Amino acid sequence: MLRVAVVGSGPSGVYAAQTLVQQREVPGVRVDVLDRLPAPYGLVRYGVAPDHEKIKSLQGSLRTVLEDERIRFLGNVEVGGERLSTGRLLELYHAVVYCVGAARDRMLGIPGEELIGVHSATAFVSWYSGHPDAAAEVFDLPGVDSAVVVGAGNVAVDVTRILARGTAELAPTDMPQPALGALADSGVRRVAMVARRGPSQGRFTTKELRELGTLPGVDVGTDPAELALDPVYADPVAAAALPAVARRNLEVLRGWAGPGPGDAPRRIALRFYLRPMEILGGPDGRVTGMRFERTAPDGSGGVTGTGVHEDIDAQLVLRSVGYRGVPLAGLPFDSGRGTVPHAAGRVLRAGRASVGEYVAGWIKRGPTGVIGTNRPCAKETVSSLLQDAGALARRDLPGDPLDALRAAGLRPVRWPGWLAIEAAEADLGRSLGRRSVKIPDWQGLLGAAGPL
Ligand code: NAP
Repeated sequence: MLRVAVVGSGPSGVYAAQTLVQQREVPGVRVDVLDRLPAPYGLVRYGVAPDHEKIKSLQGSLRTVLEDERIRFLGNVEVGGERLSTGRLLELYHAVVYCVGAARDRMLGIPGEELIGVHSATAFVSWYSGHPDAAAEVFDLPGVDSAVVVGAGNVAVDVTRILARGTAELAPTDMPQPALGALADSGVRRVAMVARRGPSQGRFTTKELRELGTLPGVDVGTDPAELALDPVYADPVAAAALPAVARRNLEVLRGWAGPGPGDAPRRIALRFYLRPMEILGGPDGRVTGMRFERTAPDGSGGVTGTGVHEDIDAQLVLRSVGYRGVPLAGLPFDSGRGTVPHAAGRVLRAGRASVGEYVAGWIKRGPTGVIGTNRPCAKETVSSLLQDAGALARRDLPGDPLDALRAAGLRPVRWPGWLAIEAAEADLGRSLGRRSVKIPDWQGLLGAAGPL
């Protein structure tokens, strides 16, 4: 039998587990899917926006995989912490596949990032998604009239949309009650989503972008002069050569180039060619706005500064400039790329494949792509693992890893514990007159999981 630990129960971890048990080359594979959190599904539970129910429903297919009899879910198990080192994990299993994602946000590296009211989009997403590590985050939304979101990716679109959405539309989601209450009391009327490059270079996908224009009570606007700065904007031949997604994005943005604010209670402005220079604050240490430098295309896809500045008022700034991998104690790490060095998924130590250690997902390739991108990524890694399986399976293991984890003082949440959390979230929702509502803190989650 080949016993494999998959660390991380987000899409890449679950796809790795699924590929391992569904292949026929190596019979008798058993997989434990470990997660630091008591709940499975990674960013599908804690990153996909609560109002994106269709993407959220992917949890159903991840669940089917985790319920396979050859797979065990073990939540509340931190790898790389005091109780369980990467070395010890490799003693307990023939192979370990790290699918730990890219948990940290990136900083802008400009003055003012420490001001009150400046947050990462990651923290905001974690908070409204009920991530237990974000339970103590405070967003002073009643005191905010205007918000700036820096970045032009899908996360920027998500946080812009959640800030602009009315709570009536969020109430049917599983958003934790404290976050829903804070958004209900929000004073936000204007959100500026600001990109340093041009409209044809936005990283958002068209479906997500277009959705901004469908929000009730929200005007969306673009500045025709900013759109026209993009060299492809007025050049149909160059526009036709763009990737389809960029071409469609341009069309959507063109449709929003309008005469100015309408009479909707809230307004989203999509701004381009503005590079962050400084976050401005008042004497009380709170953010009051953000200073940008107007940029211009440099002819090779980048931008150059023009020396012209523009300030945008804001009482809330969310930087949404991408995720970054976090080093895991005991695993090699390429700090420049924010990933674990690998060859076709085999972890490289000092340039050589480390026996029995693999990576998949964002910690392997960086924080790019949509959820489905993780499937081929996990397949490549598992295919490397299966090539090595003959040699790996020769080693005798010390017994059921679960006993060793418990002996180390860990209290794994097994699948019935997770089902108990789900049931408690359904009960919580019923008590609030809502559908299932997330429990947003460690104590609540572990309490709901029952005796461990
Ligand atoms: P992203 O797609 O990499 O976008 C990052 C944005 O930040 C880019 O617009 C980038 O601009 C900008 N940026 C980076 N450094 C900057 C700086 N110093 N100053 C100003 N702007 C800066 O990252 P993401 O939005 O975090 O998304 C991560 C991944 O998750 C993506 O693959 C995304 O598609 C996926 N995701 C998908 C969905 C969905 O499908 N609904 C939802 C959420 C996330 P430049 O282009 O100029 O570098």
